[in-house]
Amino acid sequence: RVVLGVETSCDDTGAAVMDETGSVLGESLYSQKEVHLKTGGIIPTVAQRLHREHITTVIQQALAMSGVTPNELSAVATTVKPGLALSLGVGLEYSLKFVQQYKKPFIPIHHMEAHALTVRMIHSVQFPFLVLLVSGGHCLLAVANGIDDFLLLGQSLDEAPGDTLDKVARRLSLIKHPECSTLSGGQAIEHLAKQGDRLKFYLKSPMGQHLDCNFSFAGLRNQVTQVIIKKEEGEGVQMGQMLSCANDIAAAVQHTVASHIAKRTHRAILFCKAKGLLPQNSPTLVVSGGVASNQYIKKTLKIVTDATDLTLLCPPSKFCTDNGVMIAWNGIERLREGKGILNHIEHICYEPKASFGTDISGQVK
Ligand code: ATP
Ligand code: FE
Repeated sequence: RVVLGVETSCDDTGAAVMDETGSVLGESLYSQKEVHLKTGGIIPTVAQRLHREHITTVIQQALAMSGVTPNELSAVATTVKPGLALSLGVGLEYSLKFVQQYKKPFIPIHHMEAHALTVRMIHSVQFPFLVLLVSGGHCLLAVANGIDDFLLLGQSLDEAPGDTLDKVARRLSLIKHPECSTLSGGQAIEHLAKQGDRLKFYLKSPMGQHLDCNFSFAGLRNQVTQVIIKKEEGEGVQMGQMLSCANDIAAAVQHTVASHIAKRTHRAILFCKAKGLLPQNSPTLVVSGGVASNQYIKKTLKIVTDATDLTLLCPPSKFCTDNGVMIAWNGIERLREGKGILNHIEHICYEPKASFGTDISGQVK
């Protein structure tokens, strides 16, 4: 059995062909990152146009590399939500035409479930496990009980950590730094933080009083903005120019994001242990999503998992950010279990899943 995976939820056009064993037979990825870095953020209509311009090539490249013809495919798996509606529409429209033309089953994929399960492509981690997803659009903690069975323990009440880091990087004009001009905001912050001293600035960790597993990053971003404004005034630097202490600010914000994520994850682990939600034998924390490629954040989480006797697993960086491979893998897992596969009549009127798992965040204390 062979699946074609298609991803267009945000600013990456990705496709991959994968066989039943999880071997990647072909893959292709076009990133719009550099275009959006120049405009200071994703403009949905631009993202849509770029997806439209590249989707045919990306899918053809993945198929050509695999040596598999469309007729030989067992199914097409495509991200249907969540994401930017205009971006998602391109992959979906292309995929539906494709499956109708070749009379193939269609497997709608939830982007966050794909991020959560990518790890199983590389490590033989069994259900249930705790999963932390930290990305450009999400921050959530869940117990993964099965490929379509998640218990949501907590999520961000405002923005996601990747979004916060991107906005701080933009406010600090890090794109003007010669070593950061092609990096995403999160990568730029990580890079500069290595040259900075986090103790030069005090930033309060969010939600200290909240006895749950939710997250918040908007207040932290406000604190950082205030620090930047004060420094700009002090140094007589215009907004839009780089501050000499940008590396110290990067180190402070990265540390505060890491410690907030670690504290909430620690709460989730204790809750899971108290309620017996994880296996007693080698319980696992899986971390995925774009922000999971941050080494500092991973090291901070390792302190938490070491202290609580959990194993920390994280897919390699290239599978943490968006790609077609994780979508194909989710398709393979669904095909194996016979879950969520629509035949070429059903897929004309499918309903995308509304939410990520069962939300029990209100019961988490
Ligand atoms: P979602 O998955 O929630 O829909 P997304 O698909 O846009 O969002 P991803 O592609 O998973 O997000 O991740 C992109 C985010 O990861 C960006 O915000 C980026 O700044 C952040 N990121 C990438 N590398 C790093 C890093 N090394 N450190 C911190 N953040 C990073
Ligand atoms: Fe993503």
